[in-house]
Amino acid sequence: MLKLYNTLTKKIEELKLIKDKEVGLYTCGPTVYNFAHIGNLRTYIFEDLLKRVLEYNGLKVNHAMNITDVGHLVGDGDEGEDKLEVGAKREGKNPLDIAKFYAEKFLSDLRDLNIELPDPKMILPATQAIPEQIEIIKQLEAKGFAYKGEAAIYFNTSKLPDYGKLSGQKLSEKKSGARDEVVQDPDKKTPADFALWFFLKGKYENHILHWPSPWGEGFPGWHIECSAISRKLLGQPFDIHTGGVDHIGTHHTNEIAQSEAAFGVPLANVWMHGEFLLVNEGRMGKSEGNFITLDTLKKEKFLPIDYRYMCLQAHYRSQLNFTWQSLGSAHTALNRLFDFFDFVSDVVPGQIDKNFEKDFIAAIEDDLNVPKALAIAHQLLNENIIPLEVKKASLIQFDKIFGLNLTQRTIASIPPEVDKLAIERKTAKDQKDFAKSDELRKQIEALGYEVMDTPEGQKVKKKIGI
Ligand code: AMP
Ligand code: ZN
Repeated sequence: MLKLYNTLTKKIEELKLIKDKEVGLYTCGPTVYNFAHIGNLRTYIFEDLLKRVLEYNGLKVNHAMNITDVGHLVGDGDEGEDKLEVGAKREGKNPLDIAKFYAEKFLSDLRDLNIELPDPKMILPATQAIPEQIEIIKQLEAKGFAYKGEAAIYFNTSKLPDYGKLSGQKLSEKKSGARDEVVQDPDKKTPADFALWFFLKGKYENHILHWPSPWGEGFPGWHIECSAISRKLLGQPFDIHTGGVDHIGTHHTNEIAQSEAAFGVPLANVWMHGEFLLVNEGRMGKSEGNFITLDTLKKEKFLPIDYRYMCLQAHYRSQLNFTWQSLGSAHTALNRLFDFFDFVSDVVPGQIDKNFEKDFIAAIEDDLNVPKALAIAHQLLNENIIPLEVKKASLIQFDKIFGLNLTQRTIASIPPEVDKLAIERKTAKDQKDFAKSDELRKQIEALGYEVMDTPEGQKVKKKIGI
């Protein structure tokens, strides 16, 4: 019985699906104006764990994701420039070229982290769903939920009695939070009201991307894209909608408001949110200027899978503070699993240990308690009485959730240049050319790895403690 925490009801609930054996899952995609940082990637790792747990339960997961390539303004509300235009100016390029470049980089980061991607036809950029967004705004207008201001078409939050139900924040609290916007947007009836469609006026006069609409040339607000894309790809309502905790107050609140006001049924039944990755105890963010990318980790000779393991060690609803030491510890713990798989490379997997599997399933089904599942895997590893073939079969099974590719250490764990040097060193040593093998050891160490001669042969490991 799979139980998940639902932000909407603020309870851990048994998952009830709309269709038998199928689940509709929508994960809010990235705003592609810069590299994704490892904080963003933590959220996609959490979502991947969720997807794998659903699949482990025998469900077919219909997974959809947007790519934000227009309309997400700096500050998440109706203020500031479009982030894509910021990126375009910074790099002297067209916003769509910026979007294409960073979207591809983002997807390659996900692949590096062994994250299962949605089917390509289930990934849709906002700029490719403009008619669907206009359609929802037309519905909202027809039902009296939208009004026209000087700068934009707005959603009238005061018309929706349960506006803010996701965050539990009252409209009165939201008003004070949005006070700055009042000054900027005198046309808004209520400060919490938000833009559905911006006109090419004032600060957006020269907005590069724009489309015709029943209200004039312009571009969509950020939230409407997710309402439109999720409905187009999954229908409404669908089962589970996810994102980072920063989406609760504004983005997801506004998605719910628009979709439910337009169509009179829920947008999604379960809302799940991943907690932040912190750095020096503060949120990692692009605007905070403290962000680290997957490429930064690679430059420090870590592998994406080390970072994936680090994220597995914390529950998705707990904050996780990033330090190089904790990444090093994750690497060490992960390598214990890889060492085991090296050790049993010739062992044919046997039966799965049913007791350990029972505990493992109980952990992952308890609101995705992956840290506990990981502890169970290590406990199994340390158990003396369990035969190797049983340990191997069980860990292969558990890895369906962990997604660590435990059977493929050489590809996953050691960079090719280090691997090449290690092979040369082994040859030199076999030929008793110790001067050469010592020299090669130094070269391997200079790349951040250590080489050991063990009874099972030469082993190469990442050096810890940078
Ligand atoms: P964005 O590209 O800003 O739309 O964000 C992409 C995803 O990353 C969203 O689901 C955010 O909620 C999430 N996110 C942003 N910052 C962090 C962070 N520091 N830790 C975890 N997730 C984050
Ligand atoms: Zn979204």
